[in-house]
Amino acid sequence: MSQADPSGPEPARMPVLYLAGIGRSGSTLLERLLGEVPGICSLGEVMHLWRRGLLLNERCGCSMPFRECSFWQQIGQEAFGGWDRVDAPRMTALARTVDDVAHLPKLLGAGHRAFAADLAEYVSAYEAVYRAARTVTGAQVVVDSSKATSLVYCLRTATGLDLQVLHVVRDSRGVAYSWTRKVRRPESTGAEGDYMPTFSPARVAVLWSGHNLLIQAVRALGTPVHLAPYEGFVADPKAFLRSVLHRCGIPADESTLAAAGADWVELSVSHQVSGNPMRFQAGRIPVRRDEAWRQALPATQRRVVTGLTAPVSGLLRYQSSGRPVGRR
Ligand SMILES: [Zn+2]
Repeated sequence: MSQADPSGPEPARMPVLYLAGIGRSGSTLLERLLGEVPGICSLGEVMHLWRRGLLLNERCGCSMPFRECSFWQQIGQEAFGGWDRVDAPRMTALARTVDDVAHLPKLLGAGHRAFAADLAEYVSAYEAVYRAARTVTGAQVVVDSSKATSLVYCLRTATGLDLQVLHVVRDSRGVAYSWTRKVRRPESTGAEGDYMPTFSPARVAVLWSGHNLLIQAVRALGTPVHLAPYEGFVADPKAFLRSVLHRCGIPADESTLAAAGADWVELSVSHQVSGNPMRFQAGRIPVRRDEAWRQALPATQRRVVTGLTAPVSGLLRYQSSGRPVGRR
């Protein structure tokens, strides 16, 4: 896989904000709002670029098929001299080889030389995409909302990245209920299924605990992790955005925050490569807390989810009021 100008001077470390967390936690809306901030470029779930974008040609957030979107064409050209020079099947194979929580022991440094080489190749493709996005858009900070826990552990090995993790977390009962619902994928070309997958509440509870714990553990490895609770976001998007930018060291003033109000966000057409179907919405969107689970999640399942997630909720010192107490 070739990259632009490999003989050039060593570039400065690139600020990348990675949204991590279990799906259905409100990350797509938050990522799109971040993308409205001057100097920030949001790319969507970059982990899906290789298969859903390059191989399946699913629709970009702008509604164009990936290969026809001029934004992504520019990025492919800048990063690799064109997407045709990227071996997409190789990237999906590398993802299976290195980008999975099953490989965490190797990702934490116990890997063999072959694993390290695969990891370096895999991560360098992400770096190339991020760097190209900065060049094409002129943005300082790139946002990747892939959310996958294992990709955090991959990206933190990249010496060219100044990586910060925004850990999106939502009340486990709300997440569990959301995963029981059938949601159509409007971008589907049929190959990846027309609907988002569904999971049982108990399975979601186990995933919620495990992934949220592993995301917080990255902090101990020296990568900054900022907790971003869904309930805090929907309570006041503007105040939340101000707080997130402050914690990530990104300067903000009133004009920076113009896309958010106390109960709305104003979104323009975006080029998120993959994500929740709401990535296709634009304009002023009311933001309110989705509490459907309180009525719709059966009491037994609610008790199961509450019990299974209680230890990690406690560790996160997380309250569904949206006001995590103590250290964030
Ligand atoms: Zn696009």
